[in-house]
Amino acid sequence: MTAVAATTAGPVATPSGEQHGEPVLEVRNLVQRFKVGRRYLEAVSSVSFDIRAGETLGLVGESGCGKSSTGRAVLQMPRPTAGSVRLAGQELTELSGERLKEARRRMQLIFQDPVSSLNPRRQVREIVGEGLSIVGVPKAEVEAKVEAMLALVGLDVSIIGKRRAHQLSGGQCQRVAIARALVMQPEVLVCDEPVASLDVSIQGQVLNILEDMRQQFGLAMLFISHDLSVVHNICDRIAVMYLGQIVEVGPSVAMTRSPRHHYTRALLDSVAVVDPEAEVDDRLLAGEIPSPLDPPSGCRFRGRCPRAEARCADEPPPLVEIEANRFVACHFPLDDPGGSSPVPVTIGASAPRA
Ligand code: SF4
Repeated sequence: MTAVAATTAGPVATPSGEQHGEPVLEVRNLVQRFKVGRRYLEAVSSVSFDIRAGETLGLVGESGCGKSSTGRAVLQMPRPTAGSVRLAGQELTELSGERLKEARRRMQLIFQDPVSSLNPRRQVREIVGEGLSIVGVPKAEVEAKVEAMLALVGLDVSIIGKRRAHQLSGGQCQRVAIARALVMQPEVLVCDEPVASLDVSIQGQVLNILEDMRQQFGLAMLFISHDLSVVHNICDRIAVMYLGQIVEVGPSVAMTRSPRHHYTRALLDSVAVVDPEAEVDDRLLAGEIPSPLDPPSGCRFRGRCPRAEARCADEPPPLVEIEANRFVACHFPLDDPGGSSPVPVTIGASAPRA
């Protein structure tokens, strides 16, 4: 088994995909701490991953586990406390001023709440074109690009171009937000719970648009969600996060078919299943999530884990590669049943990825 290296020196085994060429985004040992009163809360603890062009990595876990803090630290909003973030080989944590602004243009963010993410005083065409205007693109070119990008996300500029956010549905607002992000031609798109606030009936439409855009533009996408069933459908690989740490990474299908970490198993068991005959073990996610201000020693999941032993309290389990392209942080990982039938997961409106 190969441990994920704690430093960037020398060859490292890093949770990454294999089928998409060189990584566009390389994150190493990312740490984000926030001051809370007189103490420090470590929201992100030594997180490492890669994303390649045209690949979607899902970052999943319960609320407050550090998913959004990770996404924002990648975007340098705010800058991480420690660690490395490289965009196409360029170290972002060392940039400032105009060079940092340019790097941020190449990485865009889609927010959870599409309505509040749009300026209520601006028309749709102004919202979508604002970023281009700021970087000096001529007005006629801005208008042409805005019209084309709105069309790509299924909106007609002649109908909604002069409307404001409050005159749009939630789904239309999220399409506008996607158009605003993609008109800047980013290489990386961070989607932070992009469908969580939308009606189930339109979640699938938005997911399909994101999937189309990923394919069309070869985006490297970080898809943050608390919902493993949504992530399963849209992502090539899944990284599961618990209390600031990644505890398992692997291909989507394999992760849902045979989770190897006890927390991933619990997350899968906690989502609604299509198959009413499927066994659901309610014990696994019993108990409170520990405070990130005072995380447990050893394995952070041990207080909720049915397999915990004394060693789990003494030694933090490193993230190790237990099979090709499969990383798990657990002293006693679950066996791979070797079964061919996937765990049934609620399927959203979009088709599951092969
Ligand atoms: S290291 Fe121990 S406590 Fe942590 S998930 Fe594995 S078995 Fe459970």
